[in-house]
Amino acid sequence: MYKANDGRGEEVFGPKRTLCQSCGMPISKNQKGGGTETNGSRSTDYCSHCYRMGQFTDPYLTVGEMVAMVQGIMKKMHVPGFLANRFTKDIPNLKRWRSKPA
Ligand SMILES: [Zn+2]
Repeated sequence: MYKANDGRGEEVFGPKRTLCQSCGMPISKNQKGGGTETNGSRSTDYCSHCYRMGQFTDPYLTVGEMVAMVQGIMKKMHVPGFLANRFTKDIPNLKRWRSKPA
């Protein structure tokens, strides 16, 4: 895969922005740069809000609750409803939820 640069900055033509596989937010936008694994290393799949020290911060959350929560956050950020809906409709396809019944 062609890389737009040698890792010094953003990948302009990178594969796909890395999204948190739980909430769908871009991990690059995450202040901490991602969640952490049990050994303290950086998780490449999840953001720091969803995943900490190898565990989901809220393991009993359902996909419906996650969608509602993200929509609530977007509303607070004044994201238009149609954009929030488009964004959250992909959440059930993320890695965390794919294996679970909706
Ligand atoms: Zn997340």
